[in-house]
Amino acid sequence: MNHSCMLGCKPPTPDLKVPTNEALTLPPQERSRSGTIRGMSERVIPLVDQRHPSLPLPAHVVGQNLNALPRDGLRRPLTDLRISVTDRCNFRCNYCMPKEIFDKDYAYLPHSHLLSFEEITRLASVFVGRGVRKIRLTGGEPLLRKNIEILIAQLAALRSPDGQPLDLTLTTNGSLLARKAQSLKDAGLQRVTVSLDGLDDTVFRKMNDVDFPVADVLAGIEAARAAGLGPIKVNMVVKRGTNEHEILPMARHFRGTGIVLRFIEYMDVGATNGWCMDEVLPSADVIRLLQTELPLVALSPSASGETAERWGYANDQGQHDRALGEIGVISSVTHAFCGDCNRARLSTEGRLYLCLFASQGYDLRQLLRDPAQSDAAIAATLDAIWQGRTDQYSLLRSLRAPDTASGPGRRVEMSYIGG
Ligand code: SF4
Repeated sequence: MNHSCMLGCKPPTPDLKVPTNEALTLPPQERSRSGTIRGMSERVIPLVDQRHPSLPLPAHVVGQNLNALPRDGLRRPLTDLRISVTDRCNFRCNYCMPKEIFDKDYAYLPHSHLLSFEEITRLASVFVGRGVRKIRLTGGEPLLRKNIEILIAQLAALRSPDGQPLDLTLTTNGSLLARKAQSLKDAGLQRVTVSLDGLDDTVFRKMNDVDFPVADVLAGIEAARAAGLGPIKVNMVVKRGTNEHEILPMARHFRGTGIVLRFIEYMDVGATNGWCMDEVLPSADVIRLLQTELPLVALSPSASGETAERWGYANDQGQHDRALGEIGVISSVTHAFCGDCNRARLSTEGRLYLCLFASQGYDLRQLLRDPAQSDAAIAATLDAIWQGRTDQYSLLRSLRAPDTASGPGRRVEMSYIGG
């Protein structure tokens, strides 16, 4: 998947291979809500999220005032939309899309279930009318979606009500970037974020489980830079005891290249990666480690709602040296940033999730495919959904009981809604 690769999460036990077509068509009483097949082990298999019923769509108020942009229940605006364009990936990271399950017989979403490019663009346009200014394409691996350049061109043509283009970006595992960087740029993509959790080729090949060399991802990053898809960001998920030894090599590699390396605390997204707090390396420790060799100075945020805390490489005078660039730390666990979270996530088949840690989404596809629904009516429904939002999972994490695989509130997997 596109969010991380070298986390060393535990693979499912081999005897749990589930014929996926069967699993997806079992009657509900044969499946628990968590996706565990009864009569088999309690190990959770990360199937696509058709097991989670959609939330009921709120009735919008006819004639609702669409002049005022919506604020959620905590007064947060909606400015950032992440759109998953495929549930497929060409990597088989064992904690996310293990080969034992996601084999050649696996039943991915049928094409008719996916939002078409036209549906995505129409919905994106409605979102832009309600305040969205940044769109990020995710997956699965978004570059696997056939003719993705067509969708990018359609989204690049959208304008905010005051005539401004959107901030249009994409998160990728980098495997197809060397081949596609120029066509993505030509279609109107502005920049990319590449997921890369280390530079050690042996570990990288093992973790993606398709023997994909890290050199090809680095070549993809280079191609993106040559095509002008910048500023490029590289996201590294840090897991204590697994890849913390890659922190300094990664920093040395990208320092002075103009590429912004961001260290992300290992999160408890989904319910299948066996997350525990002991495996989180706090961002403060990452900064401390970097400072032992590469002096840093704190930088101010570049935008409101920014997830990363910025640090610049310092010169001998202790000031930010722009030529050396900057890094970011995303402290989703130790320093939650829910207070100004302005992000919504759209799944491949059109469900809207209001939080990365949500367990249920709103089925917007049914609205798009209902001829009676005008854009204004969909906008009013979006407003009603957003106004009812109170999510702040990370902030409340420490107050919650540990998530369980079988609990009714099982979180959706990141492989389903992107990162
Ligand atoms: S936990 Fe949910 S509400 Fe908090 S920052 Fe993450 S996505 Fe936003």
